[in-house]
Amino acid sequence: MKKLSILGSTGSIGVSTLEIVAAHRDRFHVVALTGGNNLQLLKKQIEEFHPQVAAVISEDSARELRGMVRSTGTEILSGIPGMIAAATASDATMVVAAIVGAAGLVPTVAAIRAGKDVALANKETLVTAGHLILKMVKEHGVSLYPVDSEHSAVFQSLRGHRIEDVKRIILTASGGPFFQYPSRKLAEVSIEDALNHPNWSMGKKITIDSATMMNKGLEVIEAKWLFQVPVEKVSVVIHPQSIIHSLVEYVDGCVLAQLGTPDMKAPIAYALTVPERVPTGVRGLNLAELGSLTFFEPDMERFPALKLAYRAVADGESMPAVMNAANEVAVEAFLSGSIRFLDIARIIERTMDAHQPHALTSIEEVLHADRWGRTKAKELLAL
Ligand code: NAD
Ligand code: MG
Repeated sequence: MKKLSILGSTGSIGVSTLEIVAAHRDRFHVVALTGGNNLQLLKKQIEEFHPQVAAVISEDSARELRGMVRSTGTEILSGIPGMIAAATASDATMVVAAIVGAAGLVPTVAAIRAGKDVALANKETLVTAGHLILKMVKEHGVSLYPVDSEHSAVFQSLRGHRIEDVKRIILTASGGPFFQYPSRKLAEVSIEDALNHPNWSMGKKITIDSATMMNKGLEVIEAKWLFQVPVEKVSVVIHPQSIIHSLVEYVDGCVLAQLGTPDMKAPIAYALTVPERVPTGVRGLNLAELGSLTFFEPDMERFPALKLAYRAVADGESMPAVMNAANEVAVEAFLSGSIRFLDIARIIERTMDAHQPHALTSIEEVLHADRWGRTKAKELLAL
């Protein structure tokens, strides 16, 4: 029986994870859940899965939730200490890290330090603190299993092979809803247009990241750390159908890929059960019906966020954390209607221009760089 702590259980990944748990009660037991503002959903999840611990962001929400939940014996906590308690729950054998943004870093670190294996959806953890996370994972003898569909595909295509034999990791990108838009049209897109992803149903932040292609930029950095390859070996190809989830090219010219219907339940389930596989309800592929798959070079001029991510890795040190923070601020500003779509990358770039990268030797220093990036991006927004 795998005992799971699910951080961010009310989000898109969290809900899909619980669907897998519900379909395989003989394999999984939930010991902790955490959520943000959606108390109704968290209440429902607590009553269905009876975790020992649940945590929400504020003490006010915790108080409200305690009043809502029928007696289940669940201890309801709040704030960062609450998230950490959920991440380190003594019975948990695996933590699903599915909080969105840099807010996921501290609970994920707590899970690793407590010796838990992590199914990692929160790519921002590796983007902001990759080198420290790798060190910690080694020190505590835990495993990180990718949930991100591209990284799951690479992980699957690498199994049984040597990383030294890899020539190139090729991440596929759908290109998002604006892949064929000329710059002129990109300047005018609405929030609704940007939230309308062609292939994947996800939380709002990652959906906007997909539209700007910052998501792929974050994923390039995530791949660098997860698979411990230089970033020069990580490339991106646009594949609008999202059927090939990513590929690995080996030195002998062979290319291995993982394919499937785009549904996060498949990579989530694999992270939970590797090396075994379980039914997920994900529809199989009908290749003849698909007919053809297409591929294009990414256009870094129209989608500068991807270029900024490569630049952040080249600058190194604190730059990726600052870039990530600026992106979170800019995406929020776009979603609240205060900036236009193309301003997102502009704000990120100007924040990066203003930053002098410096070494990060602790999680506290990562959090400091994150705060610096947020403050600078907000200053630039106010101009
Ligand atoms: P989401 O917005 O749907 O859910 C986020 C979860 O985090 C919710 O439970 C929310 O309540 C919680 N949360 C938000 N802010 C928080 C805070 N400050 N403190 C504590 N909890 C907080 O997001 P999502 O789409 O499920 O994405 C989660 C993570 O998984 C992201 O890092 C994303 O990049 C990654 N990811 C998502 C998908 C996808 O298909 N949704 C695919 C690959 C990777
Ligand atoms: Mg992805």
